[in-house]
Amino acid sequence: MMPIRYLTIHCAATPEGRDVKPDTIAQWDRAKFGQESYHHIVTLDGHDHVRLPDTKRGAHTGGANTGNIGVCYVGGMSKDMKAPKDTRTEAQKITLQAIVAAYRARYPGIVIRGHNEWPKVAKACPSFSVKAEIAKGLL
Ligand SMILES: [Zn+2]
Repeated sequence: MMPIRYLTIHCAATPEGRDVKPDTIAQWDRAKFGQESYHHIVTLDGHDHVRLPDTKRGAHTGGANTGNIGVCYVGGMSKDMKAPKDTRTEAQKITLQAIVAAYRARYPGIVIRGHNEWPKVAKACPSFSVKAEIAKGLL
């Protein structure tokens, strides 16, 4: 898993406002990938749930999980589940900023990306532009 070179931001693809618990997401991922996917899950209240140590490989970016920290916020879909939507609460935004800042300090040169910024990923995840937020100094 080491060295850490990337941090990829994801959404859980759950409906706006639904307070999905990290244990539930972990259960889905264990069923699908045989292990937990993310290093951090950020719930609606902005709590940072650490699920995997940085030294353990996650399962969140197809073919590119080595050296790649996965951070997932709960939400990312409209209430009716029909469309991707940036549903981040203010608390989630603040926590995502803090996580990114901490990893930049811990692993200088780390590249921060949205899941959809990886090559050949035809997904809306994380339902906002990480690139644009970095350009604006918001991440
Ligand atoms: Zn994703």
